[in-house]
Amino acid sequence: MLEATNRFFNNAADHLELDERLRTILSTPRRVVRVEIVTESDSGELMHHLGYRVQHNQARGPMKGGLRFHPDMDEDHAASLASLMTWKTAVVDVPYGGAKGGINCDPSKLSEAELHRITTTFVSLVREVIGPTIDIPAPDVNTNATIMSWIMDEYSKFYGFSPGVVTGKPVDLFGSLGREEATGRGVMYALEECLKESGRELSDVSVAIQGFGNVGSHAARLIHERGGKIVAVSDISGGLRNDNGLDIPALLDWVARNKVVEGFPGGDKVDGAAVLTGKCDVLIPAALEAAVTADNVADVQAEIVVEAANGPLTPDAHEILVGRGVTVIPDILANAGGVTVSYFEWSQNIQQFQWEEARVIEELERKMRRAYQSVATLARDEGVDQRTAAFVLAIKRVARAASMRQAISHLLPASLKG
Ligand code: NAD
Repeated sequence: MLEATNRFFNNAADHLELDERLRTILSTPRRVVRVEIVTESDSGELMHHLGYRVQHNQARGPMKGGLRFHPDMDEDHAASLASLMTWKTAVVDVPYGGAKGGINCDPSKLSEAELHRITTTFVSLVREVIGPTIDIPAPDVNTNATIMSWIMDEYSKFYGFSPGVVTGKPVDLFGSLGREEATGRGVMYALEECLKESGRELSDVSVAIQGFGNVGSHAARLIHERGGKIVAVSDISGGLRNDNGLDIPALLDWVARNKVVEGFPGGDKVDGAAVLTGKCDVLIPAALEAAVTADNVADVQAEIVVEAANGPLTPDAHEILVGRGVTVIPDILANAGGVTVSYFEWSQNIQQFQWEEARVIEELERKMRRAYQSVATLARDEGVDQRTAAFVLAIKRVARAASMRQAISHLLPASLKG
C-alpha cells in the first residue's frame, strides 16, 4: 500500500520537479514504532498482537491520524496511511502533520474486556511518543468513540487530565458535536462542489456506496437528506440495490438493530463487488483500500468517484479512470472532513470551551468547500487530475514549512518559494 501512496506522491513531485533529496525528506517517516501487546483473554489464555504507530511528518504541527484495529494492519499500511495524513492535513490546511497506527486484531472476535486490555496495553507502550502536542490518534476502521475514551483515560493516568491526546471521543467526554458524522459530511460537501461544475445538485444524481460504517452510513444519510438517490450500498455482509433509491433512514434503523445491511427488505440482494460496478452516476468507496483495481476498473460505470475511504483505487485503476474522463475526488481531499473536525475537537479541548454544533458544521463546510476549490482550480490551471493537484498543493505547503524549520531552502525549486 505504501508503494501506491509513494507513486501518487512521486507523480506530483515530478510535476513540481522536486529534487531527489527533498523527495526523500518529505516521503520518509520520521518515526516508526512497533510494539508487542501481550494480554490475557477472558479464559486466561495469553493473547499476542502487534501494535503500530508511524509518525510521518511534523513540519506543519503535531502529528495526527487514526488508529485501525484490523487483522491486516501492519507497518506497510500504517506507513502509507500516515503519509496520506501528512498530505491530507495540508490540503485542508489544518495545523498538523501526519501519523497513523493500529493493532492487528479482529475486534469482532474479542469481548469488550479483552479489547479494553489490548487498547490500554497499547497506550502504555506508546504513551511516550503520543500526546496533545506530539501525536494525536483518532478513530479509523473498527475503532470508535468508546475506544478513544479508553485511550484518554489510560494516558491521563500517567500524565494527568489530557482530553487533547485523542479526538473522536464521546460528546459527553470532551468530544466535539458533529465529529462522528464529520467525514461523511465532508464527502457530501466535496461531491456537491464537484457537481456544481456541471450545474448539478445532489438531487440530480444516483449514488452507489461501498462500506456502511461510520463514513459510508453518514455520507448516505446526508446525501439522501439532500435529495440524492442512493441506489446501492454494501458492507462486509454483501450488497443491496434498489434502482428507485434505497430508503436510507429505514436502512440505518435496520443496521442499528442487525449490525449489517444483509436481510434489509427494501432492496435486492446483490454481490458486494457488484456495487462498485453497477449503474450509477457517482461511486463512493467508503470501506478499505484497493476496492477498485486493474481487474474491475473496466466495469466501473460511474462518472464521478469520491474516495471516502483511504486508498480505495490502486494507482493503475486511478490512471485508467482519469484517462476515461472520470472525475476522481482523491482521498486526501474527499475524506478530510474527519481530521478537520478532529482539529476543532482538539482546539476545544485545549481551550476547555465547547462549540455549538452549528459552528462546527459551518466551519467544516467552509474548510471543505475552500479545499475543493483550491484543488479543482489547481487541477484546471496546471492540466492535471485532482489527485496530482491535491498532492502538489500539499507538498508545497509541507515543503515550505519544513524549509522554514530546517536549513533546506536551497533544495526548494523556485515554484515552491514565496
Ligand atoms: P468502519 O469500521 O466504521 O466501517 C467500515 C465499513 O466497511 C463497514 O460497514 C464494513 O462492513 C465495510 N467493509 C469492510 N470490508 C468490506 C468489503 N470487502 N466490502 C464492502 N464493505 C466492506 O470504518 P470507517 O471509519 O467508516 O472507515 C472507512 C474508510 O474511511 C477507511 O478507509 C478509513 O481509513 C477511512 N476514513 C475514516 C475516517 C473516520 O473519521 N472514521 C476519516 C477519514 C478516512
